[in-house]
Order: sequence, then C-alpha cells, then structure tokens
Amino acid sequence: MVSAIILAAGKGSRMNSDKAKQYMEINGKPLLYYSLKVFDASVVDEIILVTRGSDIDYVRDEIVDKYGFHKVRKIVAGGKERFNSVSKGLRACDKRNKIIMIHDAARPCVTNRMILDSISGARRYKACTVAMPVKDTIKIVDENEYGIETPDRRTLYQIQTPQTFDRKTLEEAYERLRVSGDTDITDDTMVVERYLDIPSKMIEGSYENIKVTTPEDIVLAEIYLK
Ligand code: C5P
Repeated sequence: MVSAIILAAGKGSRMNSDKAKQYMEINGKPLLYYSLKVFDASVVDEIILVTRGSDIDYVRDEIVDKYGFHKVRKIVAGGKERFNSVSKGLRACDKRNKIIMIHDAARPCVTNRMILDSISGARRYKACTVAMPVKDTIKIVDENEYGIETPDRRTLYQIQTPQTFDRKTLEEAYERLRVSGDTDITDDTMVVERYLDIPSKMIEGSYENIKVTTPEDIVLAEIYLK
C-alpha cells in the first residue's frame, strides 16, 4: 500500500507574483490541480496534501472538492522549510502503508509511468528518485564566481520528484535529521544518503518534468500540459 505526500506549502518567492505559485493558473487550472490529477488516478492508496495552514480551507473547497480528488485523505499544514513540511506529511500517513512517495506540487508534468516505476524502484532499492542526466556542463565556483572545478558530466543527474521510499527507511532517516538539527536539506534522497548511508536509485524522469519556479516556467508548463 502506498501513501503519496504532495507538497504545496512553499512561498514561491521567485515567481514575483501576488498569487502563491501553487495556485497560479496553467491552461485555466491551478498548478496544484495537475499533480493531484495524476496521483488521484494512479495506484496510490492515499494522498496527504501539505499546504500552508491558512490555505487549507481554500484548497479543500476550490481544488480537492471542486475536482473530486477522492484519494486526498488529509490536508495538513506544512512547516518553515521543505523538510519540515515532509515531516508533517510523514506523520499524517497511514502507518500500514509500506511505501511513501514525496512529490513537489510545483512539478505538474509528472506522469503515471513515473509513479509506477518509482513504486517498483522503492520496493527493490528502498530509496529512489526520478531524475535525468544533466545536459549542460556544471561548474563548481568560488565566492567570486570563478569556475574552479568541472565535475565529470557523466556522473551528474538533475534530481526531480517523485522520490519514493520504504516507509521505515524514510522515518528512520527523518528521525536522525530531527536529532541532528541540520537545516541544509534540499530533498529527501539527501536525508537517507546522509543519515543512513543508503544511496537512491535513479529512475528515468523526463526533461519535461520541470519545477515551475520562475515566470517563464509557466509558459513551458502550459505547452507541456496541452
Ligand atoms: O522551494 P522549492 O521550489 O524547493 O519547493 C519545492 C516544493 O516544496 C514546492 O512544491 C513547495 O510548495 C514545497 N514546499 C513546502 N514547504 C516548504 C517549502 C516548500 O511544501 N516550507
């Protein structure tokens, strides 16, 4: 049995918009609608939706009930950082479910194929993430913005979501994170890697599975979702 945590509690400050990013319209529907639609129609057994506390009523009325997403079991308030929101979502998951998927609502182009491959990946490897090989050369720079190192491109992947885990593994990693007090966490594979030394398997994503972050991403998402 599978729980999917969908994260929509961010501020979206790089969007320069009055309206929170997760509710901005793409082809006439709010950004959050698209991830919910794909997960609701998938094999996952429950969706835990994480939003800002003040948005819970709006999201329930204007998105979840309006479009009839019947797998959304709970809508919970997120936290200050993304990993705080994940912790809260994790606590709300049905404890009988052995697989936990975590997905950023900011990635509306997720597909059912990615969900199925991720669930198989988590059963087999305990930890996996949707990702793609990088196309560009990546530089490590110094504090003055001089490139000082060029990692071998064949060893670099750009990490997307969903990220999918065996529940006990993820809970243990998040407990160790809590005890450590670390705050430099940018995704969930990093948590199992750092605290449990468990590497995450790369599952093929798509170059269209973009994270909508800045205004030009809205235009791209509109094309990809047509
Ligand atoms: O800020 P960033 O683009 O990395 O956010 C990735 C996802 O995590 C977004 O879907 C955002 O809504 C979510 N998030 C969250 N709680 C936070 C920060 C981000 O649920 N405190």
